[in-house]
Amino acid sequence: MLIDNEIKKKFFKRVEKREEKDGCWMWIGKKSNGYGYLYHKGENFSARRISWLIYYNRESNLRYIRPKCKNKLCINPDHLCESHTTQDKINIKNRFSSKIKKSENGCWKWTGAKISTGYGALYVDGTIQLSHRLSYEFYNGKIPKGFHVCHHCDNPECVNPKHLFLGTDLDNSIDCIKKGRNAKGEKQGLHKLTTEQVKYIKQNYIPYKIPLRHFAKKYAVDEKTIHRVITGECWNHVVG
Ligand SMILES: [Zn+2]
Ligand SMILES: [Zn+2]
Repeated sequence: MLIDNEIKKKFFKRVEKREEKDGCWMWIGKKSNGYGYLYHKGENFSARRISWLIYYNRESNLRYIRPKCKNKLCINPDHLCESHTTQDKINIKNRFSSKIKKSENGCWKWTGAKISTGYGALYVDGTIQLSHRLSYEFYNGKIPKGFHVCHHCDNPECVNPKHLFLGTDLDNSIDCIKKGRNAKGEKQGLHKLTTEQVKYIKQNYIPYKIPLRHFAKKYAVDEKTIHRVITGECWNHVVG
């Protein structure tokens, strides 16, 4: 973005310098999720990033700019530093890690608060975040829009990232069917497997460890269908 006089003028109108108190420059302009933004020519720009650009005269090389003073709305360039991660993320991860107890069976038991469905939960900025989803994002990466995080181990309180996988809306609808919320499900042809599901089964089946039953339950098909996939009796063209 280009820093011109117009944007500088707008920017400084929205800064309150607390020179006497802690030296922080508080952003009093637009806020979203506790972060400061400047609306300019139809776009929102991070107040921290603008401050950085004005004073250091270059774009930040790293992904985040965060205040060392831990004052979320501070944009004093002397208090800002470049970072690979946000202070918030570091804090959340520390809190997350303090609530895990590793079990012998490999599951990471969540010792913090739980919601009624048995999932672990953590308060983050006043909202409830599910701990298995946090775990997935910390260790495995971003959860694409519309995806659910499911458990291989069928243990909702487990947050071991290796036991977690992404599920589609189909997995979720199967879950609905099991709970009797969607009576039409079976008539909609869900008894058929998709290529993705077949691949998944072929990649994850371990004899005597993960039974056919697991996949049958997961995809709401009978065990015979899964057996046919594994023996190659059908779906042989799909390589796992
Ligand atoms: Zn500060
Ligand atoms: Zn587990």
